Amino acid sequence: MKNTPRILDGVSIAGQIKAEVAAEVRELADRGVTPGLAVILVGHVPASEIYVRNKVKTCGELGIYSEMLTPPDTITTAEMLKLVAELNAREDIDGILIQLPLPKHVDTKRLLEAVSPDKDVDGFHPVNVGRLQSGQPGLAPCTPAGIMEILRRSGLPVSGQNAVVVGRSDIVGKPAAMMLLNASATVTVCHSKTRDLAGFTREADLLVAAIGRPGFVTAEMVKPGATLIDVGINRVTDAAEVERFFPGDAARAASFAKRGSVVVGDIHPAAFASSGAYTPVPGGVGALTIAMLMQNTVTAAKRRRGLAAGKS
Ligand code: NAP
Repeated sequence: MKNTPRILDGVSIAGQIKAEVAAEVRELADRGVTPGLAVILVGHVPASEIYVRNKVKTCGELGIYSEMLTPPDTITTAEMLKLVAELNAREDIDGILIQLPLPKHVDTKRLLEAVSPDKDVDGFHPVNVGRLQSGQPGLAPCTPAGIMEILRRSGLPVSGQNAVVVGRSDIVGKPAAMMLLNASATVTVCHSKTRDLAGFTREADLLVAAIGRPGFVTAEMVKPGATLIDVGINRVTDAAEVERFFPGDAARAASFAKRGSVVVGDIHPAAFASSGAYTPVPGGVGALTIAMLMQNTVTAAKRRRGLAAGKS
């Protein structure tokens, strides 16, 4: 019998979350509170400019105040630290986001640690990393938090599942593994030094791919019926490669002809056919990140005013 995998629609789930956040913002407005997000964008990095524009636009749609600070790429670490200290001290700012990557001469680690943990809406501060690890309420990184929302809102089981996370970055792989562990999955984390990677991925009921290599996880590497969560966002610019990933796909070919590139995840599209459920790229995990940022900003606004329960 032909398998029909379930497509986990990140755009629709993000829409639900944004509607809930907008309702929370209205409730806060009744108490005279407007959540505020400050975004620092250093210099001119075209991809970062697009991300930041989308974040600011979504704030506007949901009633969150936003402020964009755009220092030149000649800014020093000391000047950045001063900027962050000013934002930490401001009553009207609940979330501080430093758009990465920063210019090489700026000490990124030091800056991320300078953000008040209570305003750290990216969830990168060591205090929030520790809170996540010890299961305390905190601000959790947006992309892995989005993965957990996709699973939860789709009613997919996590507890007791064999979850394999491929990738161990601080922003995706490690926190995703920790969240899955906190949700009682049996978690294995794989990376570039893992021996017999396919031996692990084939055992996964739940596979999270956060690698940064287009189509890296192939059909032979996944267990039939598994839930596949594809975090990868890779731009493919070679026509032959596009045809290899999407043979006979007229829509993709047309999109490639128009834009000169298509976006491919870390899981080969052919692997989805035998899965139980999967997140498409685009329109899967990527759609959740900004929604979770908005949620974190409202959570931070509530916590700072003693209005939130221990939601993490
Ligand atoms: P990253 O920091 O480059 O980490 C990649 C991870 O993959 C590393 O842990 C690396 O292992 C592992 N890896 C690389 N090659 C491998 C191989 N051959 N076999 C096994 N593991 C391998 O990337 P990231 O920031 O986590 O991002 C991963 C992907 O997610 C990218 O495509 C990125 O664009 C995307 N992303 C999407 C969102 C979103 O949806 N909003 C957000 C963030 C990232 P080592 O640690 O051993 O080097």
